[in-house]
Amino acid sequence: MRGNGSFLRNPRIPFIGVGTASLLLISVDPYLRSTITGRDGDLYLPRPPLNKAITGFGIGRVVRSKNKNFNEGDIVINPFSPVAEYSIVPADFLRKIDPTTDIALPNYLSCLGVPGFTAWVAIEVLGNPKPGSNVFISAAAGGVGMFAGQLAKLKGCRVVGSTGSNDKVQLIKDEFGYDEGFNYHEESDFDVALAKYFPDGIDLYLDNVGGKLLDDVLNHVNKGAHIVISGMISQYNTIPAEREGVKNLMNMVGKDVKMQGFLCGSYLNQFGEFAQQMEKYIKEEKIKPKHKINQGIESFFESFVSLFSSSNLGKVIVQVAT
Ligand code: NAP
Repeated sequence: MRGNGSFLRNPRIPFIGVGTASLLLISVDPYLRSTITGRDGDLYLPRPPLNKAITGFGIGRVVRSKNKNFNEGDIVINPFSPVAEYSIVPADFLRKIDPTTDIALPNYLSCLGVPGFTAWVAIEVLGNPKPGSNVFISAAAGGVGMFAGQLAKLKGCRVVGSTGSNDKVQLIKDEFGYDEGFNYHEESDFDVALAKYFPDGIDLYLDNVGGKLLDDVLNHVNKGAHIVISGMISQYNTIPAEREGVKNLMNMVGKDVKMQGFLCGSYLNQFGEFAQQMEKYIKEEKIKPKHKINQGIESFFESFVSLFSSSNLGKVIVQVAT
């Protein structure tokens, strides 16, 4: 990555294609783990080729362009931004950010980006819990979790989250309005923890982690409960043969439980509706984002590792330039 970064540091290299963009901000996301290892085939995106910069959701500034729709200085979102200070990018996937907007740029990678949209699909479209429902969300302090919890609270639910440190438990309660939370590193028995935090059972579980926690949730679901699976980060560093199995599926039969995985990309036809609702919530301060912005392209690797060590707080973003 460093090699690519220094090569691309020189914006005077000749270019063909639509234009050169300088990267300002890049999102750091768990799915990269699966794509880099290639362990899960093409489940998410194809494995990145060797000796090429990996890509992620980024925000850049156009330096030069041969495409009439883009001018020098335009700020654009690119879902396939190379992790490089400068890059030549095709125009196909670029979306301009309105220069008059008063929304801070990092929000386009969090509440108005993939994490916010994923949380919205999970809570508003798939889960759609009734007021008073008992909602459980894992990885509650992260990108998806923080917005999912806030959206569920706006729907009048009782919301409990699990996360990886006591500081994060405090954060989800103080800043995101979660009713309760627990640190899964300190709970030796998830069954006991879930019985304590859900005396009336779970109506909706937004699963971001998979593994043992998902298995134990199945013992605490109510009749007609819904389990919406966004991701399984606890399994991303394992090979498929060593992944934790789920044994308590019988509860799905006896309790009419629906379990459903999804990719936010399958709901892009609803992105406009999402963006409108989310922008309103942000302006009304009904949804509050929390960002961990690390400085410099060199911090990308450390930022990526932080997704797997509970050491981050909120949505992890790397600021490459201003
Ligand atoms: P994130 O929550 O900001 O970061 C990942 C978090 O996962 C970490 O901060 C860590 O928080 C937690 N974690 C790491 N290893 C864990 C483990 N072994 N057990 C339990 N928790 C662990 O990342 P995100 O982008 O919002 O993604 C959250 C989940 O949503 C991931 O599973 C991701 O793959 C998924 N996702 C799905 C879609 C979709 O379209 N379906 C889109 C985006 C993201 P703790 O401090 O809590 O450990």
